[in-house]
Amino acid sequence: MLAYQHAYHAGNFADVHKHLALFSLTRHLLRKKSSVTYIDTHAGRGLYRLAEPETQKLKEYESGVGALWAGRQALSGRNELLDAWLAALQRLQPASMKTLSHYPGSPWWLAQALRSHDRLSLFELHPGEHGCLEGQPLPGEARRIHGDGLAGLQRVLPVATPRLCVLVDPSYERKAEYLEVAESLRFVARKVRHAVVMVWYPLLPAGRHAALLEAVRKADIRKVWRSEFEVRGLDSATHGMYGSGLLVLNPPWGLGDELESALDCLMPRFGPQARQRAGWWVAE
Ligand code: SAM
Repeated sequence: MLAYQHAYHAGNFADVHKHLALFSLTRHLLRKKSSVTYIDTHAGRGLYRLAEPETQKLKEYESGVGALWAGRQALSGRNELLDAWLAALQRLQPASMKTLSHYPGSPWWLAQALRSHDRLSLFELHPGEHGCLEGQPLPGEARRIHGDGLAGLQRVLPVATPRLCVLVDPSYERKAEYLEVAESLRFVARKVRHAVVMVWYPLLPAGRHAALLEAVRKADIRKVWRSEFEVRGLDSATHGMYGSGLLVLNPPWGLGDELESALDCLMPRFGPQARQRAGWWVAE
């Protein structure tokens, strides 16, 4: 199907939730010396110019990263993770511009964490998006693969490095993707027991993510932590994505607390209905 293009949504509240968590995750992994293989199964373009017509069409970034950017002085010094994340975002902006002009996607957030002995593979199936990704300047070396991310993930396991970190962030254009993601998580958990895997899912009125959560529970995959960030309440009048969800298999110790405090801090910027929920989905 491949109709989805992330440029229409770049920098929205769900990206803030996902990329803040990803940034926190890479910081935790960097505390140990042993090398990490990072795999991004659904990479997108890697870097988004907010002035692009696609991004300007919906301007979702204005109520996402834009809300944080506008309030960054007031937020400064209140949360260490948030300060570091906003500083990374600041460094990415062209020096001549005071406004937020670029927003990085997951390939960039992963590439900025790379050390010389780490590895990064980026899968993207959409030919146009893969073409853009190939031309993107990333802060570290990455293999950019044109192909199916979940099939590619199964092919490359196990990896040569002692540690593995995977981001699974599909567009969920097909209903079946929720169960395919659960199956991939089961596969990775069996093949590489210590793998850290972050899965993103949308909270939509149709509630399709429930199938993913249930399949993960039934597959008896242990040590899965969940974070959900909602910007609107869910009632009969709710249209579109009202929240963003993350599952993390084998989360590093401290990741949950760090993300929860950062979200508590930024929550007021997302309006009176914003709230978060976090905890083990399946515990050990
Ligand atoms: N991870 C990106 C980020 O955080 O910046 C956003 C990814 S976007 C939600 C999903 C991407 O997956 C789209 O670019 C889409 O073209 C791509 N895609 C769709 N089906 C795919 C597949 N089977 N394998 C790999 N990529 C796929």
